[in-house]
Amino acid sequence: MKSATSAKPQEYPPNPSPDRGQDGIQADTCTCTDTSVFKDIFSADTFNSSEEFDDLFKKYQNQTGSVSRVKSYSSVISENKRRQQQIPNELRYGSVSFVGVHYGDPKRKGLGIRQKQRYLPRGCNVLVALSARKNELVITKTNLQHNHEVSVALQLFYNQKRRLISKEIGDAEDVVKLYPDNKQLKSFLQGKYHKAVAMQDVRNLKRKMKSGDGMSDIGKLTEIVDAEKGKVDTTVDDGGDIQMIAFATNEMVSMYSKYPEIIIMDGIYKINRYNYPLYMIIVQDNLGRGRAVFYAFVRSETADIMLDIMSSFCRMMENANQTKTVMTDKDKNEIHAVRALLPKADLLFASFMS
Ligand SMILES: [Zn+2]
Repeated sequence: MKSATSAKPQEYPPNPSPDRGQDGIQADTCTCTDTSVFKDIFSADTFNSSEEFDDLFKKYQNQTGSVSRVKSYSSVISENKRRQQQIPNELRYGSVSFVGVHYGDPKRKGLGIRQKQRYLPRGCNVLVALSARKNELVITKTNLQHNHEVSVALQLFYNQKRRLISKEIGDAEDVVKLYPDNKQLKSFLQGKYHKAVAMQDVRNLKRKMKSGDGMSDIGKLTEIVDAEKGKVDTTVDDGGDIQMIAFATNEMVSMYSKYPEIIIMDGIYKINRYNYPLYMIIVQDNLGRGRAVFYAFVRSETADIMLDIMSSFCRMMENANQTKTVMTDKDKNEIHAVRALLPKADLLFASFMS
């Protein structure tokens, strides 16, 4: 049985030759070439402004899931210094080339110089180059054949996209800091629960909170969630110490039920003053925004607590089996918990959290 259960989940970034027999990404998500989409979107290969190209390129990337970076760029100003025929400013690019994030010779790694780069070169030759000619930007070169898997689901995982998600989720800090000031507490209550809160309510709440020890702040948080008919789960160890507090508001639960296919598990560490790590589970809405659907403060990240988190999530979301893909850290306790509670979901590993 050992070999049957030890099938490794899909590595991230995905291997150039993914093994279809494993429980990683399904084969039908692989679109290694995007030529037809590109042709559909770029009906012409000349543009009157950089925005015109950028908008279409963004559309193309969103539809195919490909992620690019700028490889080379020269501005209109620097081009105009050496060109006789001047280029209009709105073209912005004198010339520019975009490559896929896995562009480049994979052998370059291990030269001893450790660059701070997120994506290893994998010898992918995807490239789109443009150059200004007269009053237009012209596509001068395209290669759209990736040598690795590309999909919209995977795109979520790449850093450019992720940063956006983290930004959206940034307001979770209000929760994590556990109300450092009245103003933040007020905006947390209003923003999260769409409830009008008077400043006096906030002051009263603060006064009550001050009378207890640190944990009463978290206790207060669960009261708030309770008041909004949200769901709260608490687990306590034999000594009476709280091991996990998980919660989701009704709004969060219905957000999950709308977008259950892919969830991202994200741990945030030591940003509240009690050193309780916070776990978030995030979905992506139809506008591509990350939405938190579940929070859990945990005492530590033991296998048992990770199981508590996942089972609490499954209980709160009711139809958690609709989740097909879980993006997670490479933590063995996390993996074990997902495997145990969502056995049918594919696991994707991220390197971004380290
Ligand atoms: Zn590529």
